[in-house]
This record gives sequence, structure tokens and C-alpha cells, in this order.
Amino acid sequence: MNRRSALQACLAAGASFVASPALGKIAASHTTHELITSTITIDMHSHIPPDATVAAFPIKAGMKQAGLDAICASFPVDVVPRQAEGDWYKVYLDWVQQLKKLAKDSGIREIKSLADLESCHRDRIPGVLQATEGAHFLEGRLERLATAYDGGLRHLQLAHSVQDPISPTGDLQTLTPQFDGLTSFGRSVIAECNRLGIVTDLAHSSGKTLKDALEVSSVPIIFSHTALLSPVGLGAVPTWADNRLPMRLLRPDEAQAIAAAGGVIGVWHIFPTVSAYAAAILDLVNTVGEDHVGIGSDTGIAGAIFNANHRWPGQHNGFLHAVVGELRKQKCPPATIRKVIGQNYCRILRAVEQARDASHAART
Ligand SMILES: [Zn+2]
Repeated sequence: MNRRSALQACLAAGASFVASPALGKIAASHTTHELITSTITIDMHSHIPPDATVAAFPIKAGMKQAGLDAICASFPVDVVPRQAEGDWYKVYLDWVQQLKKLAKDSGIREIKSLADLESCHRDRIPGVLQATEGAHFLEGRLERLATAYDGGLRHLQLAHSVQDPISPTGDLQTLTPQFDGLTSFGRSVIAECNRLGIVTDLAHSSGKTLKDALEVSSVPIIFSHTALLSPVGLGAVPTWADNRLPMRLLRPDEAQAIAAAGGVIGVWHIFPTVSAYAAAILDLVNTVGEDHVGIGSDTGIAGAIFNANHRWPGQHNGFLHAVVGELRKQKCPPATIRKVIGQNYCRILRAVEQARDASHAART
């Protein structure tokens, strides 16, 4: 499979695609619109197909329609077969170049700091924050992380669906445990993320790996795309073809451990309706508190595959407009909504940058 079909197959695997008619005019209520436009908004987990062009993937229009200032553009190299050492690193480096080209051609920005994100919001120009889904591209070479940081990487998810055959970071949610949680390489990766100023994301890692990571990280972590293992969270199961879905949900004690360490958990798109999605956000808010929940859609923001702006039946507004409208309908206070749609991620970015600066100051 080429990279495009590989990623599309990955995105399509285990999901039920809900077709919806083309969006009409954005008709969000004034209050919803004002709430979104006066908040720095970010989707903590979004995908852009490899080789995306402006014509096939009009990202700027998609983000504006959604009401997003920024997305964490996450790329999994393990969807591409690996034949030899260096393959996945090359796939990653190619992706970075493609991402930079798409951003430039689309007239959007690359975000490398909280200040960049704030500028995107202030100037009304969307931006992408480079993220990876899995640390496979390191191929066991920790020094590549500093090179990746120099190339713009700011958010690293330790694991993905395929276990890393070279230097695994730890056990996964969906595979039989082999490592009793986080590996020594996983520990080194987290410490290096803390030192460099890269957000650490534990999505797809097992509960034991997660709890080990919380012990190691000196900075709050992200769990970018999941929901709570609860009757509300399990409401997504009938719509999801992959019967491993319950394994992908966080137990309340796991979610609370992330929150106790100051982290943020993103709610993904898998729910059958926008009202079920909003209910899943509120379910998590009620369990871990409003400071620890975010948006991690795991969708695309443009194009034909999992377009967040066309995600749910009867969705007439862009992604965040639909979600915020529904949260308001379900009586979620505006201050909580602001935290969920962006302020909480901003807090993590700030903490990551402060830890980086403190670590640099200590060495000089
Ligand atoms: Zn994922």
C-alpha cells in the first residue's frame, strides 16, 4: 500500500463512517460563535493524509469552518510497512516536509510554541502543531528526538497500534502485556521530551504504562483520544466495528490519575451523535474535573475521510460549533467549555515550555 492508502486504511479500520449531506451555511448561534472566537481553540489529535494537497485537503477552510485555531497534526509511521532500518525515520522526515509544504501552500502557520498558538488566535490564521502517533520513527535512537524538535515536533505520542519491534516504549491498550508497563526506552523518551519541551501523549498505552509514565514525567501529560470506560463512554461501542473499543477507553481511576498529575484527556469522535459526544465530554468532566478534559477528535478537518465538519447525522455546523452548541444545550457552563476547547491544552504547553526552560537554565 502506498502511504495515502495506508493511512486511509488505518483511519477507516474499525470505524463506521457516517455520511452526511454537505454543510449548508454555518448558522451557529451568536453566543456559541462568540464563545469559540474569543477562546484559543485546539484539537489535540487530528490527522492529515500523507501527500495531501490544498485542493484535496482544504485545511484552512476546514479549520475555519470548524472554529479551530489549531490542530495537533498527528502522523503514525507504523501504518507504512517497514522493510529495513531507517524506513520509518525516512517516512517521518518526508511527512514533516509534506506538512510544512501543505501549511505554506494553504496559508496557515506552523505552531512551535504557545506564543505561536496565541498569535494564530489573535491574527485569525489557523495553525498546525506537529505531532506523531507513536515513537517508532526513533528506531531506538533517542538523539533523533532533539533533531525532530529542531524540525518542529512539539507533541509525541509514545505508542500506536503496532508494537514497536525495535525499541518498544511499553505495553499497549490493545495487545497482551509483555513489558510490565513502561520500558526503559519509554522512560528515556519521556525524560527527553521533558528536557526538550515536547508534550508527552500516552494514548494507546496500557493502564500500567500510563501509571508508570505519570511517575516518570516531571510535566503533566496528555491522553489525546479516548473516553471514559462508563455507560456513557460505552455508548460508542455499537457504532464501532472494532470490538476492542472498550480496551481503548480509560478506567475512572486511570483518568483520575492523569488529572491528579495535572494532565488533560481528549475525547474522540467515535460517538454516534454530537449529543452523545458532548455527553461523553461531560461524563469525563464530572469524573476528573473541568481542568483535565480536551478535544481529541482523531478525525481529519478536511477531505473525504472522517471529516469532522461532516461527522454526525444532521450536523449543520462546523465541528466545534456543533460541539459547543450541544455542550451549551446540555447546560455546560461557558467557563468549562473554554477550558475543554483549548485553555487546558494551552496550560500543558505552558508547563512543558517552563520545564524545558528550567532544565536548560539548570545546565547553564
Ligand atoms: Zn489513535
